[in-house]
Amino acid sequence: MKIGVVGLPNVGKSTLFNAITEAGAESANYPFCTIEPNIGVVAVKDERLDALAKLYNTKKVTPAVIEFVDIAGLVAGASKGEGLGNKFLSHIREVDAIVHVVRCFEDSNIINVNGNVDPVRDIEVINLELILADLDSVTKRLEKGSKMIKVGEKSAMLEVEVLTKIKQALENGKPARSIDFDEEEQKIVKEFFLLTTKPVIYCANIGENDLGKPNNKYVTAVEDFAKNEGSEVISLCAKIEEELTKLEPDEREMFKQELNIEESGLEKLVVAGYSLLGLMSFLTAGETEVRAWTIKKGTKAPQAAGKIHTDFEKGFIKAEVVSYNDLISAGSFVKAKENGKVRIEGKDYVVQDGDVMLFRFNV
Ligand code: GDP
Repeated sequence: MKIGVVGLPNVGKSTLFNAITEAGAESANYPFCTIEPNIGVVAVKDERLDALAKLYNTKKVTPAVIEFVDIAGLVAGASKGEGLGNKFLSHIREVDAIVHVVRCFEDSNIINVNGNVDPVRDIEVINLELILADLDSVTKRLEKGSKMIKVGEKSAMLEVEVLTKIKQALENGKPARSIDFDEEEQKIVKEFFLLTTKPVIYCANIGENDLGKPNNKYVTAVEDFAKNEGSEVISLCAKIEEELTKLEPDEREMFKQELNIEESGLEKLVVAGYSLLGLMSFLTAGETEVRAWTIKKGTKAPQAAGKIHTDFEKGFIKAEVVSYNDLISAGSFVKAKENGKVRIEGKDYVVQDGDVMLFRFNV
């Protein structure tokens, strides 16, 4: 599960990405943190882990993480190969969702590539490139599909219908994600690997002085735009985020209080990204480690077990499951068991957020 970070030059993307990589450097349990300079890994804040660590008297806490990829190099004309054009687009193709950073701060010292601060125009510059790239692939597929129908290939009918719908939206300057597809159509759409079907969070980068205050007019404009296509908006100040990540945890909390913010922008972004991707966590707890594992909502027990080790999935027998709340109120796993709160679940069990799980397997 990867989220790509995009944005025009000078909107604060590198500043935000620095904050992301800095935060990732802290979660040192992750060997993949440092593989590539354009990848940042951020821990998903989860207070349940700290409570479990206390219960099990362990120091090793491993949070779930979300991976961000810095996708640099977008300029107008990318879909025609300008700048890092095609490379840029292929990087977007590989991510599951997009964080689109836009400038919502005024600062006369920092040049705005398009003249003045206008986040909606900036969004449209990038979206247009993605729309044009999709239009190109949709048109090609449509030609192929139409040929198939001509030679009597009935199975191509629905595909052509869906492609036509998408093409219309794209030609009207709308991303494919703005279309409501039914379940069957959705399956087809997935196979097109389009750029504009990817879910987006618009990240409004506001000035230091606007933090903890009602939205400025730029953020309001971004929110109106996002509402129209069903996307989400997070506002943060990239510069402050970068400063926050450099502080020790307790200093950071103090600074947040001073700024009148409850959650850092990065925390908001991670939570939004997690839910945007339809993710949740199940937990494992023991004396050696307390850990959160990321799964898609609707995942069944054996596949959840497979996140820990493929053998757990292959040899899955059953899972012992207790909800986080039941475990905490019982005070220990043994007590929870005595209270009848520990369930034995089989291979059809759909794992719930906050389930504390113990797998039995046989290889
Ligand atoms: P990028 O080109 O999108 O990666 O933008 P940068 O992160 O390099 O930021 C461009 C300039 O804007 C830099 O001088 C940053 O220090 C500045 N900048 C970024 N975020 C903020 C912010 O929230 N407030 C202010 N005042 N400046 C910012």
